[in-house]
Amino acid sequence: MTTATTRAAREFRGSHTAGRSPEELREIVSHWGAELELAPAEVIIEWAAATFGERFCITSSMGDAVLAHLAEKVVPGVDVVFLDTGYHFVETIGTRDAVEATMKVNLISITPVQTVAEQDAEYGPELYKRDPDLCCALRKVKPLADSLSQYDAWATGLRRAETHNRVIAPVIGWDAKKQKVKVSPIARWSDEQVERYIAENGVLVNPLVYDGYPSIGCAPCTRRVAPGDDPRSGRWAGTNKTECGIHS
Ligand code: SF4
Repeated sequence: MTTATTRAAREFRGSHTAGRSPEELREIVSHWGAELELAPAEVIIEWAAATFGERFCITSSMGDAVLAHLAEKVVPGVDVVFLDTGYHFVETIGTRDAVEATMKVNLISITPVQTVAEQDAEYGPELYKRDPDLCCALRKVKPLADSLSQYDAWATGLRRAETHNRVIAPVIGWDAKKQKVKVSPIARWSDEQVERYIAENGVLVNPLVYDGYPSIGCAPCTRRVAPGDDPRSGRWAGTNKTECGIHS
């Protein structure tokens, strides 16, 4: 087992200034949450960048580059954090590479402490089949928490239309577990709004989206879904698991 910390830590842009205290961050959430609830996505991102400066990033799972596209318009060079679990589809890695090559963002790929081979050696192969919660904790939750220590706030592409679990996703929220401000600029967007934005702006989309994968995670835990089915029903299909834990 390697003792290295998240390998991509050195890739983080510049030296991040000291962050605000949790009390200060919570105060920002309670002051601005209601104010920005109905604001356009670009305004929300602009506010977050102005408020948190270098201690603000966005995360992307590379299902599409909608959030990155919105962000590069108002915060060129913004940090875009991608969790490279070691289990992604080749199309997802290709989408990440295309974002890095063509967009005005600072793409940061973060990886778990252990490679897949190292994890297999310690826990046995195919941990995702036997204990997906532990696998997600090791390959998603911890690496993200480690990388977010560089930031006071991060933006996600969470949308309330995606699943019932996400109905209450606030535009500006407080993540008590991470002690960070969680910003969801497109929380109110419908599927149609996303599709229109992609078409009108030529936004990069993971090709798997057009091949029956409306929600894309790690390859071993993602299945095609039938047209009209819940878009997230292909994630951890056949189990009770619906979320990897990074949004809880
Ligand atoms: S989605 Fe599957 S393979 Fe990916 S980290 Fe979670 S359990 Fe492991």
